[in-house]
Amino acid sequence: MLSDSHFYFNKAADVLNLADNIRDILLSPRRSIKVNIVIESENNELLHFTGYRVQHNNARGPMKGGLRFHPSMDEDHAGALANLMTWKTAVVDVPFGGAKGGIDCDPHSLSAKDLSLLTRRFVEEIKDVIGPTRDIPAPDVNTNARVMSWIMDEYSKFEGFSPAVVTGKPLHLFGSEGREEATGRGIMNVLAEALKEQNRDFSDISVAVQGFGNVGSHAARLIAEQGARIVAVADHSGGVANPDGLDIAALMEWVAIEKSVKGFAGGTPFNSADIIGWHADVLIPAAMEAAITVENAEQVRAAIIVEGANGPTTPEADEILHKKGVLIIPDILANAGGVTVSYFEWTQNIQQFRWEHQRINDELGKMMRKAYRSVHEISREKGIDMRTAAFVLAIRRVAKAALARVYINTKVPL
Ligand code: NAD
Repeated sequence: MLSDSHFYFNKAADVLNLADNIRDILLSPRRSIKVNIVIESENNELLHFTGYRVQHNNARGPMKGGLRFHPSMDEDHAGALANLMTWKTAVVDVPFGGAKGGIDCDPHSLSAKDLSLLTRRFVEEIKDVIGPTRDIPAPDVNTNARVMSWIMDEYSKFEGFSPAVVTGKPLHLFGSEGREEATGRGIMNVLAEALKEQNRDFSDISVAVQGFGNVGSHAARLIAEQGARIVAVADHSGGVANPDGLDIAALMEWVAIEKSVKGFAGGTPFNSADIIGWHADVLIPAAMEAAITVENAEQVRAAIIVEGANGPTTPEADEILHKKGVLIIPDILANAGGVTVSYFEWTQNIQQFRWEHQRINDELGKMMRKAYRSVHEISREKGIDMRTAAFVLAIRRVAKAALARVYINTKVPL
């Protein structure tokens, strides 16, 4: 995974003629932490875990990125995702750097009390390097508003009242309006810009969505509200299709109870893997990494892919899709709505002031659309694809800031 993000970075660095030493500076993580966590569980067992936090770059501000509680979490994974966060925050121009981390655990096998204890011990270990002006964690896979509340509480024990140490908190504990749907809303915003350029409208398009969790469900709902037909949705256990458009509100209600789209009566079932080749104008992979690979890229029939997930397209698949003429709106642009509203949450916490929901949606829409137009402009000017253009924009911003902080006599070469 680390090699994929480096691949895309180097492709853009070639366009910028970036010298090797600058590439090394920008790719090297600022700090990587690995901590040993031992807890005594509720049933008196000694449990042992490893926690990670990779802080990739802070040239443009405090570092920002999620915490993932998953057995696959390790330094390489955290490093790759931290790296992506640096470019993502730069593309949407929020004043943050990039970080990522987590704990190698299966949270589903832990009681709520053990999970709270584990989270608090992790905070104890990393408290000196996180903080509102240093590094601000957020939810990621298997972490949520409840985990963020524990982090805020534990950190505040050491440092005093500090709501701005994490984002993605519950609304009643200094969270922000609009945070939950933010990534989906950002996806809707960038798709709106792409359609505008093609003189098309939401009412002209059909959409297939892979993943119906936080990102996929809200993206589907908001895109359907604009008038598009969501013709197929798939999750880990199956898919459901309806050529006239699925009733997304009803599907969300079904999933809230059944935990899967499987069995939903408002469409016909299909095999989850078939979603990638679905006959639709737009495909939104919003599940896991490497969903579109060399094995299935040829099957893609959509003309536009909006990457809701992080890293859903492998470099080999990316190449195949470009040859087929598919427009890919890359992850570091398409799913940046979440970190953008996290920025609004942090801002509100620092200001001790609450913004109204409409203001959040308006500001998010402006920032996402502006980022799309900036990336598209570079893509057009340089004749490069949107992913490479997004990296060009991000690398320029990060490199300029990073080098301006150290150069004394020399001009920044960008
Ligand atoms: P989630 O856990 O809420 O939902 C994940 C969804 O993917 C579920 O519906 C699950 O059933 C489905 N899924 C898992 N494996 C699948 C498979 N093999 N085939 C089809 N569906 C499968 O997670 P989320 O928060 O929606 O995140 C999804 C992706 O978006 C991740 O890559 C995450 O890193 C990325 N992302 C999330 C946010 C955010 O704000 N939540 C922001 C940026 C990026």
